Amino acid sequence: MKKFLFGALCILLANACNQSTNMTNNPLLQEFNTPFQTPPFDLITAEHYKPAFIEAMKQHRAQIDAITNNPQAPTFENCIVPLDRSGLLLERVANIFFNLLEAERNDVLQSIAMEMMPLLSEHSDNITMNPQLFDKIKAVYEQREQLALNPLALRALQKFYNDFVRNGANLNPQDKAKMMEINAELATLSLQFGDNLIKETNAFQMVIDNVTDLAGLPQANITAAAEEAKAAGFEGKWLFTPKKPSWIPFLQYAQNRALRDQLYKGYYLRGDRNNENDNKALIQKMVNLRLEKANLLGYPTYASYVIANNMAATPQNVYDFLHRLWTPAIKVAKQELAAMQKIADREGANFKLELADWWYYAEKLRKEKYDLDESETRPYLQLEHIRDGMFYVANKLYGITFEKRTDIPLYHSDVETFEVKEADGTHLALFYLDYAVRPGKSAGAWCTGFRNYLKTEEAEILPLVSVVCNFPRPIDNNPVLLSWDETTTLFHEFGHALHGFFTRGDYRRIAGDIPHDMVELPSQIMENWAGEPQVLKAYAKHYQTGAVMPDALIQKIANSSLFNQGFMTVEYVAASLLDLDWYTLTDSFSGDVNAFEQTSMDKIGLIKEIIPRYRSTYFSHIFDGGYSAGYYVYRWAEVLDSDAFDAFKLSGDIYNQELAAKFRKYILAEGGYDDPMEQYKRFRGQAPSEESLLKKRGLK
Ligand SMILES: [Zn+2]
Repeated sequence: MKKFLFGALCILLANACNQSTNMTNNPLLQEFNTPFQTPPFDLITAEHYKPAFIEAMKQHRAQIDAITNNPQAPTFENCIVPLDRSGLLLERVANIFFNLLEAERNDVLQSIAMEMMPLLSEHSDNITMNPQLFDKIKAVYEQREQLALNPLALRALQKFYNDFVRNGANLNPQDKAKMMEINAELATLSLQFGDNLIKETNAFQMVIDNVTDLAGLPQANITAAAEEAKAAGFEGKWLFTPKKPSWIPFLQYAQNRALRDQLYKGYYLRGDRNNENDNKALIQKMVNLRLEKANLLGYPTYASYVIANNMAATPQNVYDFLHRLWTPAIKVAKQELAAMQKIADREGANFKLELADWWYYAEKLRKEKYDLDESETRPYLQLEHIRDGMFYVANKLYGITFEKRTDIPLYHSDVETFEVKEADGTHLALFYLDYAVRPGKSAGAWCTGFRNYLKTEEAEILPLVSVVCNFPRPIDNNPVLLSWDETTTLFHEFGHALHGFFTRGDYRRIAGDIPHDMVELPSQIMENWAGEPQVLKAYAKHYQTGAVMPDALIQKIANSSLFNQGFMTVEYVAASLLDLDWYTLTDSFSGDVNAFEQTSMDKIGLIKEIIPRYRSTYFSHIFDGGYSAGYYVYRWAEVLDSDAFDAFKLSGDIYNQELAAKFRKYILAEGGYDDPMEQYKRFRGQAPSEESLLKKRGLK
C-alpha cells in the first residue's frame, strides 16, 4: 500500500482531562534538546504517551476556551489565527505516537491506541462541534467581504468554516450527539480492522521442508525464506508469508502450482476466515455508520460527502472516469491472459490458468516478449544507489542537497537520516528513511512526518519528514537489491517527501492542503524520473562490478513498462469500483460481504482469473487508511502526473529547472493556496488531459 499520512494527523483535536500526571519527567512534554528539535526517541517510552496525550488535550482545550471565552466581538485575529495555531502539542504527541504505531506496532502501543482513540475522537468532536466556537467562526465568515483579508487569510477562513460544517457544526444538539457516537465507534472499528489484518498476516505461514518445492525460485528469495524460517524457529526450513516481498516472488517463480495456490490463498483470504480476526462484520458496521453520518450531514451517500471536497466533485464523475479506463483495460487483460494460456499450452500444462497462475505465467510472458527477467535488473538496483539516484534527481531539478546525519535520535537502528539543504546551503528539512520490513510494521510504504512546516510571527519551523517501506532486510551485510516495483515505490514516497520539504503557508490550515485526488501528483510524478534512461545511467550500477546498467537492459525496462498493464489497471480499477460501490450504498447494508463483492465485480465483467487489488476484508485503504470512497485518487492523480511529466519531456530537458521551479511553487509549496485546477494551470499553462495516461499504459 502506498499511503500518504503527512499532515493527516494535524487536525486531531482535544478534550478535557481529569488525570494529574508527572509532567516534568515526560520527554514528550519537554522542549526537545536535540539537533533540529527532533523527537528524543532514546528518552521516550510507552508509558509517556498516555499522560502526554491527556496533557496535550488539556492544553488544546484551554486554547479553544480562550477563544470562546473572549468577550470581544469575534475577528479574524482573535478567533481564526489562534484556532489555526492551537493544538500544536497534541499534534506533536500524535505524530510521534501514530508514526510509531505504524512502524513499530506491539501489544503495548496497540492497547494505548485502543484506549486513546475514543478520547481523541471525542476531543476532536468537542472542538469541531463546539457551538460557541462555530458561532464565532461563522460570524467572522459572514463578514468576510468587509474584512479586507489577503487571499490566504480568506482561504484559511473558508476552509475552517467548511470543516466545521462538514463535521456537523450546523446540526441540532441531538444529531450532534449521534454524530459523536458514530465517530467514536468508527475510530475503534477501523483500529480493530487494522489490528485483525496484522494478526492475520502474521498468522499465516507456509513452511517448506522439501528443497524440491523451491524449484524455480531465485537464490535470493530462497535465502530470504531460510532467514525468515530461522527467525520463526524453523531452522533448516523455508518460510513464506502473505507479505509482498515473500509471496510475490513465490508466485512469480515457484514451479509448484499447488503451493503457489496455497500461498496466494494465505494472502487473499486474510480477514475472511470466519475466525476471531475476521473483518466482515466490521465492514458491515463501518459502511452503515458512514452512510448514517453522510445522511446526517445531508448527503445521499458517504461517497458524495467525501468526493464533494475533491477535484472530482461527484461520485458519478469518478464512476465515469473509472469506466473510461476499465473498457480498454479489461480488453488488454484478456489479451494478456490469452497470450499466457498459449505459453501454458505449449508447455503441456493441460489446465486453464487460474488466479494463482497469473504471476507465474506473466513472468514467462515477460521473459518471452520483453526478455526482461527481474533477476537481471536486481543486481543494478542496490538500495543505496537508488536513494542516491533520487537525491540526484532532486538536486538537478531543485538544487537541493542531502547530507547524512548520524547524531539524530532514532526509533529503530534501521532508520537513517539526512539534512536537506537549499541550493544556497540553508536548512530546509530533516529526512528519515526506514526501509526494511519488520514484524511490527504495517504493510506497504508511506510518507509521513514528525513535524509539519509552521510559520509564526516569531519563527519559521521546518519539517521533519519520514518515509517508511517494507523492503527486504539485508542478510549477512549483503547489499539490498530491489525489484523494479520497489524502486519506483521509493521514488514515489520520495515525491511525497519533497512535497513535505517544500510546503509553505502562513496558516497551518492551508499549508500543504491539496485535495485527496491531487495528493498523489507530487509522488507519482517522481516515478516517471525513476525509469528515464538518463536517470538510470546515474544510479543503476551493478552492485558487484559497479558497471552502469547496459543500454539494452534500459531499453528492456522501457519496453516492459507496457507489460501486464491490462492486469494492473484492471485489478486497480476493480478495487476502486468496489470501494465506490461500498460507499454509494443508499440503504443500510445487512447482506453478505463476499456476495456484495462478487456482485460488484460481476457487474463490470471482471474475469475470474483476476481479483481486485484489495478484497474487502483486507482493503486497509478504505477501512482503516483514510481512503474510503477515495481509492480512485491514484489514477485520477496519474492523469495529472502523466500530463505534468509530459511538460518536462516536451521541453526537451527532463531536468528543466524553469519548469521545476514552477512545479515547486504552484504545486508543492503553494498547492493549498487556491483552487487546485487553477494552481495546476499556473504550472502547466493548460488543463490536464487523459491522453498521456492511456498512452503511457499502452491502453490506447
Ligand atoms: Zn502515495
